[in-house]
Amino acid sequence: MSANAFNHLVAAATKDRTGGPDPIAPPNLESTFGAYTFGPVEMHKRLPKAVYRTMINAMERGSAWDSSVADIVAQAMKEWALDHGATHFAHWFQPLTGGVAAKHDSFLSPVGGGKVVTTLSGRDLIQGEPDASSFPGGGLRSTHKARGYTAWDPTSPAFLAKGRNGCYLAIPTAFVSWTGEALDHKTPLLRSIDALDMYARRVLRFFDIEVERVYSTVGTEQEYFMIDEELFFRRPDLVNCGRTVIGAAPPKGQQLDDHYFGDIEERVIACMLAAEKELYLLGIPAKTRHNEVAPGQYELAPVFENANLGSDHQHLIMRTLQRTAREFGLVCLLHEKPFAGINGSGKHNNWSLSTDTGLNLLDPSKQPHANSLFLFFCTAVIRAVYKHQDLLRISVASAANDHRLGANEAPPAIMSIFLGEQLRDVYDQLLKGPATRSLRGSKMFLGVTSLPTLPKHAGDRNRTSPFAFTGNKFEFRSVGSSQSVSFPNVVLNITMAESLDIMGQALEAALEGKDYKNPGVLAAAVSDVVREVVIEASPILFEGDNYDEAWHREAEKRGLLNLRTTVDALARMGDEKNVRLFDDYDVLGNREYFARQEVWLEQYEMAIDIEAKTMLQMARTMVLPAAVQYASELTKMSGCAGLQSELKAIYKNCDDLVEALLQLNSALDYHGSSTLEGAKHRRDDVVPAMANVRRFCDRLEGQVPAHLWPLPTYQEMLFVK
Ligand code: ADP
Ligand code: MG
Repeated sequence: MSANAFNHLVAAATKDRTGGPDPIAPPNLESTFGAYTFGPVEMHKRLPKAVYRTMINAMERGSAWDSSVADIVAQAMKEWALDHGATHFAHWFQPLTGGVAAKHDSFLSPVGGGKVVTTLSGRDLIQGEPDASSFPGGGLRSTHKARGYTAWDPTSPAFLAKGRNGCYLAIPTAFVSWTGEALDHKTPLLRSIDALDMYARRVLRFFDIEVERVYSTVGTEQEYFMIDEELFFRRPDLVNCGRTVIGAAPPKGQQLDDHYFGDIEERVIACMLAAEKELYLLGIPAKTRHNEVAPGQYELAPVFENANLGSDHQHLIMRTLQRTAREFGLVCLLHEKPFAGINGSGKHNNWSLSTDTGLNLLDPSKQPHANSLFLFFCTAVIRAVYKHQDLLRISVASAANDHRLGANEAPPAIMSIFLGEQLRDVYDQLLKGPATRSLRGSKMFLGVTSLPTLPKHAGDRNRTSPFAFTGNKFEFRSVGSSQSVSFPNVVLNITMAESLDIMGQALEAALEGKDYKNPGVLAAAVSDVVREVVIEASPILFEGDNYDEAWHREAEKRGLLNLRTTVDALARMGDEKNVRLFDDYDVLGNREYFARQEVWLEQYEMAIDIEAKTMLQMARTMVLPAAVQYASELTKMSGCAGLQSELKAIYKNCDDLVEALLQLNSALDYHGSSTLEGAKHRRDDVVPAMANVRRFCDRLEGQVPAHLWPLPTYQEMLFVK
């Protein structure tokens, strides 16, 4: 980018756009929260009492509902949407692309005489029929058999998707094929919650707890970058791939740690406020925001919700951030690794189990050693992660996330659990006999009488663990920033359902013929079951530094898996244990399951191919021409001896780059026999060839004068605010 263009850009960034479009009025949190949703408040106002109760039961307890309510709900929903200026409705679903999709239909129906009325029938609400052939189906659908259905999910409120010139009514739906096979991420998520509910409630009966529903709760911490829109559009790699495929490291990156929790730049916070206002209207409880470690990187976390709603809302958070950014001349990058050498972005998935009565089953209370209920559920999680390390890794596998996992900033590809000092101590006791004490938190005096005395937790935190116990929930930290959280939660739910099933049976056997209403008897039986599980699963427990090479060697000795790449992970989907788990717990039948493996392998291949082609194009049409122009300028001044060596260095890098481009080009010319082979080829041949091309491009970036360099640099992208 030329120096002039850069100056112009800085002026634009710092002057004209700081306030965004028009300053917005701050929201009234209490009165506007959820105003764009057809949720409990609006339903209460607009539905007959009996219908309202049916809908609330469906939402809170997953109860069945009679299709006769659909006409009444549809009518009320339509009137509400029209009151807000909606003209269209759309079934909103989550195809296997990983994003969301919707086809809009207007409410209008011609009635003759040149007139129209507005309608939304119960049938329109319950069922839609998008063309299924154009979505990835992994063999579940062939192009000539295109029929697919969307089915209303009444447990996630319909909402208004607003734009500058109007809005539409979005109806969350599941998406299935003509044969009823799941073509989306929501259907297996709902099935996995049902499985979890069934086995959790079975266990709870031993504890004399009768509830109507158990579900998982999810709170996601979304990391993202914001960069100037003009810089974004000048980079074909950001436009095509969401990340920079070339780019030299800037002198200042994140070394100083001065961005983390720092003062949020005016243009960015103006944008955040606008995005959050929208989220509140959508009933999304956005809670925390802050600057992240890398310059230009931020985080937003909502309060947790049930897994289905939390997962829908996670899509809306991503959409809202991306759309709002553009109003402020910014682009929100959700990619897991937009900039090499700078921290990537993840999405910590905080996960726990709750009953419909509000009991958190992973709350240790003050005395976890004496809390049999907690110990039982917590141990079930330990077992689930130990037995199914591979599935957890599979659930976060993507070409983009491969840049994060394994690099020294995100958790490694090796799964392990951090329990913290207090719980670790309880389990250490349990392994030897009955647990008799829990370490206590203490108080901290800060040395200044005017400062408060602070409570000190019984254990510190561990930021390097992929799966950490954080107070009253587990935090799965390997999830990628651009990813839907649906499948990671499917895996958490289903592996937990299996653990509860198997441990539940063991508990039942241990209590056989005994008086389980006697707390002492129950506690002893739980202790026995828990001990047996932890003895087997203890290799998964690790309290130390997950970035440390010594841990990687230790993990190997312990027999833990280290599935470094997406291909390593996805290849294990075919293992008998995994296929059977999904089938046995009725979450994905064999065809549905293998369709996903096929789709994800294809997505991996396509992502790498697009990146490689973009790289070829940029190197040939931008980098090389700039280098050649500089070389010709140098040639004109060849009288100067010092410049001779500069010229030589340019020639050498150009030669090497051309050679690397030829190699990359031939690596791309591949016709494999299967998707798995194709994916392996990308990993083993294309990715290394790309790294080689990058090396020479980045060297040239350090040589070619700024006024000739055709691309925005890391410095510009990370620091122009
Ligand atoms: P931390 O720094 O501990 O990671 P954050 O505030 O950034 O804390 O994020 C914590 C996330 O965990 C929030 O989204 C919060 O709602 C969520 N969370 C808290 N309790 C639960 C729970 N019981 N189940 C699921 N998520 C939870
Ligand atoms: Mg966290």
